Amino acid sequence: MTTQTVANHAVIIGGSIGGLLTARVLSDYVERVTIVEKDLFSAEPVRRKGTPHAAQFHNLHQAGADIVRDLFPEMPLDSAESGLIPSDVGAEIHAFMYGGWLPKVHVGSNLFWCDRLRFEWALRQRVAALPNVELRGGVTVRGLRYDKLAQRMTGIEVKTDEGMGEISAEIVVDASGRGSRLPQWLNSLDLSQPAESELHINMSDVSATFQLPEQTQPKWAAMVIGTRPGTNNKMGGVYRLPNNQIKVLLAGWFGDHPPTDEAGFVAFSQQLAQPDLYHLLQDATPISPFLRHKLPSNRWRHYEKLRDLPHGLFVLGDAVCSFNPSYGQGMTITAMHAMALDKALRRLQRSGHTIMARPINRRFQKAAGKISQTAWMNATTEDLRYPEAEGTRSLPVRFMQTYLSEVMATAHQNKAITKLFYEVMTLRRLPAALFSPTVLWAMLQHRLRERISAASTQSIEKPVGRKRILFPTFKSSDGETF
Ligand SMILES: Cc1cc2nc3c(=O)[nH]c(=O)nc-3n(C[C@H](O)[C@H](O)[C@H](O)COP(=O)(O)OP(=O)(O)OC[C@H]3O[C@@H](n4cnc5c(N)ncnc54)[C@H](O)[C@@H]3O)c2cc1C
Repeated sequence: MTTQTVANHAVIIGGSIGGLLTARVLSDYVERVTIVEKDLFSAEPVRRKGTPHAAQFHNLHQAGADIVRDLFPEMPLDSAESGLIPSDVGAEIHAFMYGGWLPKVHVGSNLFWCDRLRFEWALRQRVAALPNVELRGGVTVRGLRYDKLAQRMTGIEVKTDEGMGEISAEIVVDASGRGSRLPQWLNSLDLSQPAESELHINMSDVSATFQLPEQTQPKWAAMVIGTRPGTNNKMGGVYRLPNNQIKVLLAGWFGDHPPTDEAGFVAFSQQLAQPDLYHLLQDATPISPFLRHKLPSNRWRHYEKLRDLPHGLFVLGDAVCSFNPSYGQGMTITAMHAMALDKALRRLQRSGHTIMARPINRRFQKAAGKISQTAWMNATTEDLRYPEAEGTRSLPVRFMQTYLSEVMATAHQNKAITKLFYEVMTLRRLPAALFSPTVLWAMLQHRLRERISAASTQSIEKPVGRKRILFPTFKSSDGETF
C-alpha cells in the first residue's frame, strides 16, 4: 500500500454480500481487514445457515452491477462464473405491471438475473485474494468492545469452537444482515438503540427451477407478472437459464402464500393477474426443490439519527434496512452503502488524518440513511397500496401513489416514459426524474388522448324503470355512428 492508511485494523461482522463489498472498500484504506462470519466458508457456492434467503430468486439492478464492476474490474458481469446473466430491462423482459403489459423498449440498462449463491462465492474468491484481507469462518460475534471514556470502539467479543475471545480493531462494521443484534449490543453498553420504521407485509416467496421441453422457447429473457393491490396479492417472475431451464418465483403478500408442492405451486400461478406463467408451467418439469422464504416486514433501523453511536462503528446493508424483496433493491442498496463508506474514507485519507483523530461514522450513517430512504420510499409507497397494509397513508404517500399510477398509465402507451420508469426502477436515476416537465407533458397528452377517445365512444343513457342501462356508441373510421 503506497498511501497512508486511516487505521491499523478493521473487523467486519458478516461475510455475505455487504461484508465482502465492504472488505474490498476497506482494503484500500486500512492496514488489515478481517471478516468474521458465523458460518464456515465453503470452497463451493453452497447454501449456508446464515443466509437462508441466498437460494431464493434474486436479481441485481444495473446500479449495483456498476459498483461491483468498479470494485472488481476483472470480474465478468455476464458469465455463469459470476452468477450473473444480464438482460436489457426494457427490451428483453416481458413485464405486466400496474395493470398492463409495458411496451418493449431498449433501455441500455440491465437487470441481472443473479444466482445469489454463486455471486457471493465469486465475490468471496476475489476478496480472499486481497493481500490485506483475512476471512475467518466459524466465528460468531457476541458483543462489542468499547472505550467509554473515549466513546470509541476497541473491538468485538467472539465465540469460536475454542470458546470466547476478543478481536481488537479501531473500525467495526456491522454487515450481519436483517438479524443483526447490534441494537441489543448497544443497549448492553448503555448506549442508545436506533428507532425503527416497520411496515408489515407478511410476505412469502417460493422458488424452483424447471426444465422446459425443447419445443418451448420463450421469446423473452425474463417475465414478471405483478400484483393488483386490492384485488390480487400474488406475483410471479421467471428467468431463462442456460439449457432451456427456467427459475420461477411465486410470491404473495398478507398471508396469500404460495405452496411448496408442485400441484399447489402451479395452481397458485393460475391465480396471477395474467395466465402466461401458468401456461408455461403446463409443460415444465421441476428439477429442484420448492424453496420457501418468509419476510414479515419492510424494516429500517435509523442509525443515521443516533447521536451517541461509538466512533469507529459503522452499520450497513440489511442490518440498516431490509425491504420487500420483490422490488429487488437489497443488494444494490448494500453496494451503495459500501460506496458511501468508500467516499467517507477517501475524504479522511486525503485529509491526512486517521480514524482515531477524526471520526467519520456519524456522517457515514447519514449518507447511508439517505440511500436507504429512496429504497424505503419506493418499497413502502407501493406496499401501502394494499388495503391490508397497516401504516399511515400520509398526504405525500397518497400523492406519490396517484402520481405513479398516472405515470404508469402513460408508460403503458409511451416507450419514452417506460424507459424512464425502468431507469428509476433499476436505481440508476432518482424518482425525482419522474417529475420532469417532459413526463408531465407526456401524462397530459395521454390524458387528452383518453378524453378524445372517450368522447368518440359516446354513451346514450336510456332509463328503464329505476335502472339505467348504458348503451355505448362507436364511431367507425368513416365517421358513421353505430
Ligand atoms: C427472499 C429474499 C429475496 C431477495 N431478493 C433480492 C433480489 O432479488 N435483489 C436484491 O438486490 N436483494 C434481494 N434480497 C436482499 C439481499 O439478499 C440482501 O440485501 C443482501 O443479501 C445483502 O445483505 P447483507 O450482506 O447486508 O446481509 P446478509 O446477506 O443477511 O448477510 C449477513 C451475514 O452475516 C452473518 N452473521 C449474522 N450474524 C452474525 C454474527 N453475530 N457473527 C458473525 N456473522 C454473523 C450471516 O451468517 C450472514 O452471512 C432478498 C432478500 C430476501 C430475504
